[in-house]
Amino acid sequence: MARIGFIGLGNMGGPMSRNLVRAGHTVKGFDLSDEAMRFAIQAGVQRAATAADAAREVEVVVTMLPVGSDVRAVLLGSGVVEATAPGTVLIDCSTIDVETAQAMHRAATEIGRFMLDAPVSGGTKGADAGTLTFMCGGDPAVFERAAPILRGMGRNVVLCGGPGMGQVTKICNNMIAGITILAAAEALTLGERLGVDRQTLYDVISTSTGRSYIFNEACPIPGPVPGAPASNDYRPGFAAKLMLKDLRLAQAAAATGGASTPLGATAAAAYAMHVNNGFGELDSASIIKLVNPDI
Ligand code: NAD
Repeated sequence: MARIGFIGLGNMGGPMSRNLVRAGHTVKGFDLSDEAMRFAIQAGVQRAATAADAAREVEVVVTMLPVGSDVRAVLLGSGVVEATAPGTVLIDCSTIDVETAQAMHRAATEIGRFMLDAPVSGGTKGADAGTLTFMCGGDPAVFERAAPILRGMGRNVVLCGGPGMGQVTKICNNMIAGITILAAAEALTLGERLGVDRQTLYDVISTSTGRSYIFNEACPIPGPVPGAPASNDYRPGFAAKLMLKDLRLAQAAAATGGASTPLGATAAAAYAMHVNNGFGELDSASIIKLVNPDI
């Protein structure tokens, strides 16, 4: 069992750190929020006084923070990388821009630490149940050391390539999800407007070529899927503001990589309007409100 520092104990990091405790690891945690700290401590996480304190005398440091600038501020600004012992593995599970992820790999390896980018899919439900998918980028030997720790929080742990390739895989996945929700919202709105009821549309499309995980499980129109956020006042789930963040990360990466992503650009623009309209906290399926004012 390992000694682990965990920084960022929010909606995802809270349950993830609890699952590490349940797996038998010793976990020292830090978060700026008192509420997040309280939740983690109740779950058996030890209180660290600062981010750097969480990184001392541990073998592994996990970060689960909102955006790339937070990861940079914590790992470099707060002295986390420097506080670790040589040979420590740093695992960043946040969804961040590829450039920052690769810069963190360089900063860690330059002083003899090891880094893995390991963003997740599965949302807060997966974090709670310990069924997340980890998309990892880094050196295969570092991946081998990190994988047993990640399996304490998830089901699928995959090495996608070198530094930053976990982030690339994550934003490609979420770009498909964002485009698909918008496509489903448009199609359901069109079908209903032309006179087919939504349940019939759902029953046929969910078993025809228009089906997908998003259409079938996260159908954006209220009614056909009782457990989906759409049927529960669009409570997240995966908030629209987080979808916008990921779609923007995909657009930034596409610009850097010279890739043409017209549908990704359209989805990013649609989510930007939706968030500006005040719906950022609702589930991402609420994007249907942009094309269907009756919802
Ligand atoms: P969150 O806002 O609930 O948690 C982030 C935590 O980081 C907060 O508790 C905040 O206080 C803490 N924090 C911020 N700056 C800090 C600092 N300098 N030092 C210590 N703590 C600090 O966010 P979340 O939903 O847990 O998401 C975390 C990451 O996971 C994001 O990158 C997000 O895109 C990604 N993600 C989220 C979901 C989801 O469904 N929520 C799904 C997949 C991936």
